[in-house]
Amino acid sequence: MSYFGGFYGLEKRDVDELELVIIGAGAAGFSAAIYCSLLDVNYLFLDAEQGGGLINIAKEIENYPGVVGIRGPELIKAFKEHLQQVGGEVRAFEPVQELHFVAGGLLVKSNRQTYRPKAVIVATGLEVLGLKEEFGLTNERDYLGKGVSYCTECDGPLFKGKKVLAIGNPFDAFLLQRLTERVSYLGPVPEEFRSQVPREIIEANNIEYLEGQLEALEGENCLEAVVVDGARIPVDGLFITRRKAGSEIFEKAGLKLDDDGFIIVDRQMATNVAGVYAAGDITGEPWQIAKSVGEGAVASLSVFRFLTGQRMRNLGWALKDEWEI
Ligand SMILES: Cc1cc2nc3c(=O)[nH]c(=O)nc-3n(C[C@H](O)[C@H](O)[C@H](O)COP(=O)(O)OP(=O)(O)OC[C@H]3O[C@@H](n4cnc5c(N)ncnc54)[C@H](O)[C@@H]3O)c2cc1C
Repeated sequence: MSYFGGFYGLEKRDVDELELVIIGAGAAGFSAAIYCSLLDVNYLFLDAEQGGGLINIAKEIENYPGVVGIRGPELIKAFKEHLQQVGGEVRAFEPVQELHFVAGGLLVKSNRQTYRPKAVIVATGLEVLGLKEEFGLTNERDYLGKGVSYCTECDGPLFKGKKVLAIGNPFDAFLLQRLTERVSYLGPVPEEFRSQVPREIIEANNIEYLEGQLEALEGENCLEAVVVDGARIPVDGLFITRRKAGSEIFEKAGLKLDDDGFIIVDRQMATNVAGVYAAGDITGEPWQIAKSVGEGAVASLSVFRFLTGQRMRNLGWALKDEWEI
């Protein structure tokens, strides 16, 4: 029997065995990966694309502590450099296609390989739905950071004293009302919100309610107007707040989701399946970098505890409830 870290019977962990797969290299995944590198967890960090997630398209980030006015790609570069410094790396272009829970472990199937980790952190974010599907418009990204926004809480403060139009979640029109001079909302209200925020409530609260086909976004250097059913409506900002959880793989695997398709977690970021944790946008609102980074950190610490708990149990230790995660 050896003595390690104050516990008899525990040896330094065998880091040759795969302990964890982190699925998704956005803010939540990077945070988890940096912690896991520092904690010597043997993990793989997979991303369906090049890594970075939604921060790649954030023009200017004003609300992440310690870095004022940083551009999204710069923040991701800093995350990548930090991870590299602590010995980690992203395996890019390796999407996870299936997750299975089998007797004695987990199976993670990517486009390249099947892995058998002891734990998984799901950090796959969400899908931002643009104007293409509903209105056939394809140029909204030309105005990203120049009037078009996908994030009310992030960019709303930049539109103080200005006129904005909201599309999607009608609650965002109310949030914007606190931050901006004048808000219009382009209905119809999506069905899932209709019973809580019907048209009458919007109109009764000094938000201009519009309905019609959004035909164009106009403006030379930045957004100046939108065209709805042929009418040009001057606006400084357009907030598009339509989201999709994109958690089909995880639902199939048996993870419990809420009514909007987001993964249900507890305060340790644990899902309903032992050894599976989730962090970031995929666990629901608020959709923010700080929240994603925080949840990634919590999930990685929970995994560290989970792995240690498994090892202690294998050695025949009776664990207290606080280790039952
Ligand atoms: C334009 C814009 C501006 C924003 N500005 C701000 C801001 O100023 N401040 C702020 O706090 N928040 C902002 N946000 C929100 C913020 O970007 C998100 O809350 C945060 O980045 C979410 O991080 P995440 O890691 O949960 O998910 P994501 O960033 O979405 O990362 C998920 C990653 O998982 C990968 N993935 C998905 N499926 C799979 C799979 N099956 N296998 C492997 N990999 C997979 C994706 O490729 C992606 O890289 C903004 C969002 C947008 C769209």
